[in-house]
Amino acid sequence: MIFHGFPASDVQIFNVRISTYSVSTPDCFDVSPKTNAVCSLIRPGRAVPRTMGIKSGPNCAVGQHIHLKAWLHPDSSIRPRTPYTKGSCKDSALVPTNWRMNNGHYDFIIIGSGAGGGTLAYHLAPSGKKILLIERGPFVRREKENWSSLEVNARGRYNTKELWRNADGMELHPHTNYYVGGNTKFYGAALFRLREQDFGEIKHYGGISPEWPISYDELEPYYAQAERIYHVHGHVGEDPTEPRRTGGYPFPAVSHEPRIQQLSDDFARLGLKPFHTPLGVMLDEKNPWKSTCIRCNTCDGFPCLVNAKADAHICCVMPALRHDNVTLLTDTKVARLETDSSGREVTAVHVERNGTKEIYNGTIVIVSGGAINSAALLLRSANDKHPNGLANGSDVVGRHYMGHTNSVLMALSKCPNPTVFQKTLSVNDFYFSSPEWEFPMGHISFVGKLDGDTLKAGAPKVAPKWTLDLMGKHSLDFWLTSEDLPDPNNRVTINRDGEIVLQYKPNNEEGHKRLIKKLESLMQQQTKCPIHGRECHEGLFARNLFLGQRIPLAGVAHQNGTIRFGNDPKTSALDRNCKAHELDNLYVVDASFFCSSGAVNPGLTIIANALRVGDHLLERMNVRRPEPEMTSVA
Ligand SMILES: Cc1cc2nc3c(=O)[nH]c(=O)nc-3n(C[C@H](O)[C@H](O)[C@H](O)COP(=O)(O)OP(=O)(O)OC[C@H]3O[C@@H](n4cnc5c(N)ncnc54)[C@H](O)[C@@H]3O)c2cc1C
Ligand code: SF4
Repeated sequence: MIFHGFPASDVQIFNVRISTYSVSTPDCFDVSPKTNAVCSLIRPGRAVPRTMGIKSGPNCAVGQHIHLKAWLHPDSSIRPRTPYTKGSCKDSALVPTNWRMNNGHYDFIIIGSGAGGGTLAYHLAPSGKKILLIERGPFVRREKENWSSLEVNARGRYNTKELWRNADGMELHPHTNYYVGGNTKFYGAALFRLREQDFGEIKHYGGISPEWPISYDELEPYYAQAERIYHVHGHVGEDPTEPRRTGGYPFPAVSHEPRIQQLSDDFARLGLKPFHTPLGVMLDEKNPWKSTCIRCNTCDGFPCLVNAKADAHICCVMPALRHDNVTLLTDTKVARLETDSSGREVTAVHVERNGTKEIYNGTIVIVSGGAINSAALLLRSANDKHPNGLANGSDVVGRHYMGHTNSVLMALSKCPNPTVFQKTLSVNDFYFSSPEWEFPMGHISFVGKLDGDTLKAGAPKVAPKWTLDLMGKHSLDFWLTSEDLPDPNNRVTINRDGEIVLQYKPNNEEGHKRLIKKLESLMQQQTKCPIHGRECHEGLFARNLFLGQRIPLAGVAHQNGTIRFGNDPKTSALDRNCKAHELDNLYVVDASFFCSSGAVNPGLTIIANALRVGDHLLERMNVRRPEPEMTSVA
């Protein structure tokens, strides 16, 4: 689909300025009776439609604005009101003529609409520059299944069906999502800043976490801006490792429900400094009747049916599309980037759309397909000047893949845990060294409330569902994250069949093991329950009791590091502005640029960096800095 500067809702009126209107087949749009202008349409499969020249009438002349009405399907396909020809027009779309008059040339082409790409499009949109946002997936369909854990977790309804391979050539079904908004549509919206120290070199038990080419101070204003755009709720001064900040959170922290508050009090009694997790949800606890977010139990891992999660689709892509210089192509996969003969400039973006191949041109091309897909795209774009893949003279593209060492652990009690929205509490007391150990261990927080359907996904077929339901009702469900280190042999490659191969050997695991032990001992010291006493707390178990506790290789939610940035072109692919060292007009703004992974969720750092790179791009194009804020649609 092509979406040009309009929001997707049921009925829209487009204000289109007539330049030289041309027509392929006018079968999808009902033209306003006030004019007899004919809108410009592209039929499926035709990159450049047949031009029939200007059709103008008494109320319609070149330079005039007209109103075109179009009806959009709930899935945002375009529905005809009065079809002029037979057949489906589902894949037709409105395209302003100036787009084709310009021969498909854009100032910026952004590939991928997730945390990095969606945010960058938002930041550049008010500049008036022509922006093409290309997304391989569609919009997430709004349907009841958005909030069904059976559909989302057990049946993987929204996971890509794409097949990758592991190092042994075995099939890998990646837990990743290709939609407008990228993985932020499904994320838990825990939006952390990295710590100041994460930007420097840190000694871990398993090796060195390397220094970044930029400092925390450089990113701080962009973190603040990112928190405003993504509606982050938090409380300053609670987190013992909190980095320096120039202001407070834009919204108050999301409150704990009673069971979580009790746990927080227990942790505090033991001398820890538990804190409220910074969360990007549009929740107004003071005025619940007005709140967009209803504080439900299907947030982390689910798309938000009521558009209340602060994701890249809602907070960035939709507001960006209000600017008519922004065009979004959905269901359009970028297959390859082509360079000029010198190899210094990307001259063509080759895409596959509706089963056909098309080419787009942009002055600046920004790749943001996620750390694995972006590396794959550069590797697939190898040519004579870049035999190891685009921008890969350093041979780092695809290497240093990181994804954190993550575990989901369930603390079972005899008493039920009635918490609905569980992801409000975090503990960072063991993020760096602690009195017992001189090395970092990591971060403790929560996943969304687990239930029987979700647990069934990792259990053997014989495991009775009622047992799993019971476990889900009685568990506190922790998420533990530790830093994994950049190993050049942990890498993304492409096999002979063009498939993605992901090779990963865990490292730096000792800190994570100690973090689990730490949590175990803390849970043993919880307050006695008035009914069962100390017997209430039955212990800490891996979520996946049957298959081991670690998140498997296919769990690529926190993927990063595959196209690292740095000052030295011999050891990095991107410079400090995330421009490819070897090309003049190629940038990368997704999680690929990370030099180290830290031990908090990556989302806010990707968003803040996209804003930083956005400012650099505006300066480079000599454009006035756009107004910093636009309101989101929700
Ligand atoms: C279940 C889940 C929970 C998570 N929870 C959190 C959390 O609480 N906090 C947090 O900070 N992070 C969380 N994350 C991680 C977070 O979502 C990611 O770090 C973030 O979305 C990555 O941003 P990105 O821009 O690198 O890639 P993405 O957001 O994945 O965006 C990449 C986009 O590019 C598109 N694309 C890929 N290849 C191509 C191509 N060739 N052509 C065109 N388009 C392409 C994809 O379809 C996708 O839309 C979670 C992730 C998941 C899956
Ligand atoms: S309503 Fe709130 S808690 Fe529920 S999915 Fe949406 S943002 Fe998350």
